[in-house]
Amino acid sequence: MRFHSTRNAGETATLSEALARGIAPDGGLYVPDEFPSFTVADFDGLDGIAAVAPKFLAPLFAGDPLASQLPAIVAEAFDFPVPLKALPVSGDASVLELFHGPTAAFKDFGARFLAACMARIPRATDRTLTILVATSGDTGGAVAAAFHDRPGIEVVVLFPRGLVSPRQELQLTCWGGNVRSLSVAGTFDDCQRLVKAAFADPELAAHRELSSANSINIGRLLPQACYYVAASLQGFRRTGKKVNFIVPSGNLGNVLAAVWARKMGLPIGELVITFNANRTVPDFLETGVWEPRPSVATLASAMDVGNPSNMERLRYLHPVHDDITAAVRADSVSDEAIRARITHDRTALGETWCPHTACAAETYDRLSAADKVKGPWVLVGTAHPAKFPETVEPLVGHTVPVPDSLARLLELPRSVTEVPATLEALAAVLR
Ligand SMILES: *Cc1c(COP(=O)(O)O)cnc(C)c1O
Repeated sequence: MRFHSTRNAGETATLSEALARGIAPDGGLYVPDEFPSFTVADFDGLDGIAAVAPKFLAPLFAGDPLASQLPAIVAEAFDFPVPLKALPVSGDASVLELFHGPTAAFKDFGARFLAACMARIPRATDRTLTILVATSGDTGGAVAAAFHDRPGIEVVVLFPRGLVSPRQELQLTCWGGNVRSLSVAGTFDDCQRLVKAAFADPELAAHRELSSANSINIGRLLPQACYYVAASLQGFRRTGKKVNFIVPSGNLGNVLAAVWARKMGLPIGELVITFNANRTVPDFLETGVWEPRPSVATLASAMDVGNPSNMERLRYLHPVHDDITAAVRADSVSDEAIRARITHDRTALGETWCPHTACAAETYDRLSAADKVKGPWVLVGTAHPAKFPETVEPLVGHTVPVPDSLARLLELPRSVTEVPATLEALAAVLR
């Protein structure tokens, strides 16, 4: 399988090249030349993400130097539980808990898989590979955890100062060694802009071998597709019906993986994207006008994105507006509704949601009230509530127990550099 840029079908790469580059040389995002096609029967006897992933990913890895290592990569990356838990609501709904990895958010899937791949890609030079990553909170921690102490690789994390939760900040700044954390005086969009500018800067490129671990990197989308494969098969085998998902979204990397899995024949029905007050995508679906805008700060801060990068892949797959609106639906949840949902579901369902997962729960409730939830539905749980105690604990009236892996990280010493939101400042750190 080869991959090409969304901006030029002639700009192609092998999988290893696409993973190592992160972004295509023309600024586009890599997509597969063709989508492999599966039936449910192809997965007979395979259950759970670690079992389905090698089968699902094999055609995408075919012909690449990494192909023979795929089983080892999957085993290394997907070594934590991914429960699909039924909810006591009206209709058939479950929550897919994607937050049992080392940094307690779904970003662990992509980051660990990408790190397992990058560590195995044969490299032409012995220059250190620098992974640049802009984070709205969870990506940076997951990437740092996944790449920490890997030889020949260095990670530079950019996060918006004061706009991530205190526990997220601890996870971003607790590493040291080959991980450098930059606290940027700006928003997530500024961080993302700086990373893009660094890639486009010929002087930096000459000086450093740069790669990206943001969801523009196809190495994050492929592993994310695997949990949609496993969960949709599980629901389909139980009910005989396609499984619908509600995905809390920011840069659209998570939901795009579901769109691709459905395109490849997995039994996935509706995909509903739920956003916080950042309405770029819901407004686009309504009006057909693509209007990126500055992000606004919300309780679901990992979704505070005003110019979602993976829209480029979604629009590439569905160039006609009516096709996009047929492929996905969108909802938007205010901070007030997030708060109310967390409080309500603690009592009504016995579930403590993080502010992001609460958006999915709110959207499910709205769909259910409008009688729009036939068949099995899965709410995608993107982070553990213990990452956001300032928001969640006052609403549920008790402390949220911290998972062990997270607790260990929170005790490490901090190291962080404060920088202004300029390319010169980033370049100075990189030199
Ligand atoms: C990153 C993140 C999201 C948004 O995911 P995208 O792939 O950017 O759409 C949602 N919830 C949490 C907890 C996250 O960390």
